Amino acid sequence: MRDFDYFEPRSADEAVSLLVKYGDAAKLIAGGTDLVVRMIAGSRRPKYIINIKAVPGLDYIDCSGDVIKIGATTTMRAIATSAELKKKCPQIVEVARQFASVTIANMATIGGNLCNASPAADTGAPLVVLSAKAQITGLEGTRTVPVEGFFTGPGSTVMQPYELLTEIQIPVPPAAFKWAYIKHGIRSVSDLALTTVAVLVNIKNGIFVDARVALGAAYPTPMRATQAEAALKNKKATEATVEKAAALVREQCCPISDVRASADYRKQIAYVLTRRALMSCLNSK
Ligand SMILES: Cc1cc2nc3c(=O)[nH]c(=O)nc-3n(C[C@H](O)[C@H](O)[C@H](O)COP(=O)(O)OP(=O)(O)OC[C@H]3O[C@@H](n4cnc5c(N)ncnc54)[C@H](O)[C@@H]3O)c2cc1C
Repeated sequence: MRDFDYFEPRSADEAVSLLVKYGDAAKLIAGGTDLVVRMIAGSRRPKYIINIKAVPGLDYIDCSGDVIKIGATTTMRAIATSAELKKKCPQIVEVARQFASVTIANMATIGGNLCNASPAADTGAPLVVLSAKAQITGLEGTRTVPVEGFFTGPGSTVMQPYELLTEIQIPVPPAAFKWAYIKHGIRSVSDLALTTVAVLVNIKNGIFVDARVALGAAYPTPMRATQAEAALKNKKATEATVEKAAALVREQCCPISDVRASADYRKQIAYVLTRRALMSCLNSK
């Protein structure tokens, strides 16, 4: 790893000023569980490291309103163990519980997970399904974008080089909605996923009144399964409907082949996981 200068700003604005001053040569760090690995491997060589983990006011979970607010430097472990969050949004707690080992989850932040923009990241697909928003702070103040539109490709987002993610906002999901998150890895759930699926459905009088489906590691960005959603909405909540929707996911997804799995295998897993997730919603009381 090559030498770098290190900064600990005391506010989001100070972090933005440092980003503006040092431009491309600077990199933000939060938990460091992605960045440091890349620095050791030599694929990232920042001259300036700006540590935002110690910035006051970026590490919080606020469940007081209809929209849950999670500060960007909140660790995945804090999310997994939050009793308040478990009451208001058990879905995101379940996702955090499937995230890596406790050691990694104690360092890794939800903001870093989104900003690293890995198609396989655990939080991407669930936050899309939960209609979450990302609050971004930059020179012109703050702006908010849907997480669904946050990613532009593997490793890239809508954020400008001088911006940082400051907050994730999740509307409290209606209690009657059924949810499932399934993560498929090579060895265990603590691995980075081969494929993930998140579904949130509202079943009333035997009909899928509402359905949101998204997948991770099935597309260059977390993929909203729009064709499957259309095949579910206002249709009978039956195994046949689920089968049709899952088959459409297999058609819509466009995963990569790499050392861990072929694209064809990932497509088949996307189908199997979607089917399984929807059936678990169908069969849950
Ligand atoms: C052994 C191991 C296991 C892992 N298992 C999983 C897993 O099961 N699931 C999973 O999803 N991931 C996993 N990861 C990947 C990693 O832990 C996560 O992506 C983590 O959430 C990254 O957060 P961080 O705070 O450590 O990010 P960092 O490494 O600090 O930063 C990652 C990137 O995001 C940028 N960044 C960070 N915060 C902000 C911000 N607020 N605003 C703008 N840019 C920012 C940084 O500049 C950097 O480019 C694993 C990693 C390791 C090493």
